[in-house]
Amino acid sequence: MDAEPRVLIQRLPEDLVNKIAAGEVVERPASAVKELVENSLDAGATSVLVEIEGGGRSLIRVRDDGCGMGREDAQLALERHATSKLRTWPDLQAIATHGFRGEALPSIASVSELSLWTRDEAGPAGTEVQVRHGRLVHVRDAGHPRGTTVEVRDLFGAVPARRKFLRSDSTEVGHVAEAVALLALARPQTGFVLSSGSREVLQTPPVDGLAARLYQIYGGAFLEELLPVEDGHEWAQVRGFVSRPDRPTASRAALRLFVNGRAVRDRALAKAVLEGYRGAGVSEPRPEAFLFLEVPLAMVDVNVHPAKTEVRFADSRTVWQAVQGSVRRALGSGARRQAPRADTSRIQEAAEGYLALGAEAPSRSLGDPGLERARAEGGLALPVAEGPALEADRWPADVPTVLGQHRNTYIVASDGEDLILIDQHTAHERVRFEGLLERLERRAVESQILLAPLVVTLPPELRPVFESHGGGLTAMGFEAEGFGGGSVRVRAVPALLGARDPGRALQALLLDLLERESSDWIVSSSRDRLAATLACHSSVRAGQSLAVQEMAAIVRDLAQTAHPTLCPHGRPTIVRVPKEDVTRWFGRTGWRRQ
Ligand code: ADP
Ligand code: MG
Repeated sequence: MDAEPRVLIQRLPEDLVNKIAAGEVVERPASAVKELVENSLDAGATSVLVEIEGGGRSLIRVRDDGCGMGREDAQLALERHATSKLRTWPDLQAIATHGFRGEALPSIASVSELSLWTRDEAGPAGTEVQVRHGRLVHVRDAGHPRGTTVEVRDLFGAVPARRKFLRSDSTEVGHVAEAVALLALARPQTGFVLSSGSREVLQTPPVDGLAARLYQIYGGAFLEELLPVEDGHEWAQVRGFVSRPDRPTASRAALRLFVNGRAVRDRALAKAVLEGYRGAGVSEPRPEAFLFLEVPLAMVDVNVHPAKTEVRFADSRTVWQAVQGSVRRALGSGARRQAPRADTSRIQEAAEGYLALGAEAPSRSLGDPGLERARAEGGLALPVAEGPALEADRWPADVPTVLGQHRNTYIVASDGEDLILIDQHTAHERVRFEGLLERLERRAVESQILLAPLVVTLPPELRPVFESHGGGLTAMGFEAEGFGGGSVRVRAVPALLGARDPGRALQALLLDLLERESSDWIVSSSRDRLAATLACHSSVRAGQSLAVQEMAAIVRDLAQTAHPTLCPHGRPTIVRVPKEDVTRWFGRTGWRRQ
């Protein structure tokens, strides 16, 4: 008997297809905001207003004064693969708009309650469309000025797995702020406002260029640390700004890269930027960059991923050369302009700072209960930023004697037997870290009141973090308050920082808070992480020339720490060259009598 033919494959209903697409297009509130604002920009808006509540979970509202839509278009806009930006296959190879896939609106609508109000030039009345979790509720007339407002409520309300993956409100607001900032950087002539609840996170009225926009978003002090790039190679143009090579290195590279006005994540481009720094003589670059690459539309494929943040170039070599060469040349000419500003003042400052603190340098004993507890809780096993923890060398029984400094980076010492190399930065970091933990334990972190309060402009993504994590910063010795427009007024700083730029340390701490934040975040490790960051920012750096007594002080203090052989991030502080090796190198192996 013949079996019934079985058909197992089915076409999925459109709503389910949209939900699947949403998985890729809408990762978190910030991605929904990005898609909605991109639509506003594609519609030619001169002003975009973004409001969010609950980190974007409870509400996202994007209002623009763009071209708007007629009634039929408004309905079609919410259908899958419905777009006004693309008609034919050749169009796809010359995409000049942000959108082209026609899937953002239906995807967002499939995982939220979405309402849209819109009116175009021709329409006598506006249109309202409402969709609830992918199902059309109604389409009707509604008053609206020319332009479009899209409101998204209860994002991921019916997708518990995705909702659970979201972080705290302040972190989500931070991501939204970064997304809006990227779009604002690409469109200086458009005005943007982002508010979260009753707070304004970002406000950038239209300006005439990138420099003015950078000023609006990041403040004037930051702009002074940047060098302009205006260059290119063959058909690839590169313009924007890169951080000066002599700028103290940030805790990590922050590269904002755009291809034809679209913010992209591209490893090869990022590498090209770093290569440009290396070419200009910066050995371990951690730059900040805002670079806009303009290439002919046909030379770049933007249709790589639904989120549209990846691209493929037809000829990546030309792009590489354009970016790498432009950055290198910009740094070269910038360095010449800056030549008189040699590093000596910073070195002096660091050395003086260290010596000034020498008097109260922490003396730590082994087996400190606070430290032991932190270690037991895994607090000291901090994540390593740039690789796995290395095997630490043994710490010598006696405090090593300092012989000198190698390449302004390593302390050369001897314990009478072996030759010992000490990384001056990681060693000092360890000293500072344990001292700071101990003072935190005693609630005795010292603040230094500034003679004149300092106003620091925070990058948008860090503003909400600042607002919600004041306590951690106070414990570290900062006294700072919001000052409007993304500025923070700093009245007191950790004494540990000495004469160092407190703005930078503050930003590094906030960045830690932003990056570390997750549902399984434990308080003890966050405190240690903050302490490690502050320790890093208050330590002598690689490349600073140190006097022998300064090096001796670091080594002496390091010997007093509980974990002298590793820095708080897990990198080694010392490397030993055993006497046997030295003996062998000089062919003295046979000479038993020395
Ligand atoms: P895409 O942007 O890829 O075309 P979307 O799903 O984001 O796809 O949007 C679908 C269509 O809806 C767009 O092509 C556009 O015609 C229309 N649309 C969406 N948002 C707006 C807006 N803010 N103003 C005018 N038209 C819009
Ligand atoms: Mg779109």
